[in-house]
Amino acid sequence: KKRAVVPILSGIIESFKKYAREKEQTIYLTFPSDKISIDIDQVMFEKIIINLLSNAIKYSPPQKDIQVKVKEYGQTVIISVEDAGIGISGSDIDKIFDRYYQVDANSAVGGTGLGLSIVKEFMEMHGGKVEVKSQIGKGSVFTLAFNVAQENGKREKDVASQAINSLKSIDP
Ligand code: ATP
Ligand code: MG
Repeated sequence: KKRAVVPILSGIIESFKKYAREKEQTIYLTFPSDKISIDIDQVMFEKIIINLLSNAIKYSPPQKDIQVKVKEYGQTVIISVEDAGIGISGSDIDKIFDRYYQVDANSAVGGTGLGLSIVKEFMEMHGGKVEVKSQIGKGSVFTLAFNVAQENGKREKDVASQAINSLKSIDP
């Protein structure tokens, strides 16, 4: 079933405001239209966004704001969660989607290291994909690509890859 993503995102952001305020962070949401819809299980979609947002807050110093952006490229909807936090090194970035992997498991930040493995699994179940671009000390951008079209899945997957690749040239 197709669901409008902007109202769902707004609701989740609203529920995170309390935590963001404690760190003096603001979460911004931008979108070209509030009608943008994707065919996704709402509970899984919410879990994906909750994991990315909680990471963005957790791995950013106080006062570093967070951006959630919705974009549409033809048949692909891109949702990005961008932070200006601690960033992830090149040697860790390939492992963060693995179950139980944490860059610094001894840190006081907490968690189980499962969040991103769930994000990846749920995205794959929806024929979408998740990618990350990050720079140590500058921040991270997690990008979700969803195919809007029901048919011609393979071709639309290529479109999703192209859209993600075009984003790679943009700095966080
Ligand atoms: P959990 O999500 O289960 O509570 P977690 O946040 O440690 O625990 P993941 O969400 O899977 O686990 O993230 C894996 C690791 O990737 C984190 O421990 C952290 O080191 C790194 N990481 C994830 N998101 C970010 C981010 N936005 N900025 C910097 N590092 C991140
Ligand atoms: Mg997490």
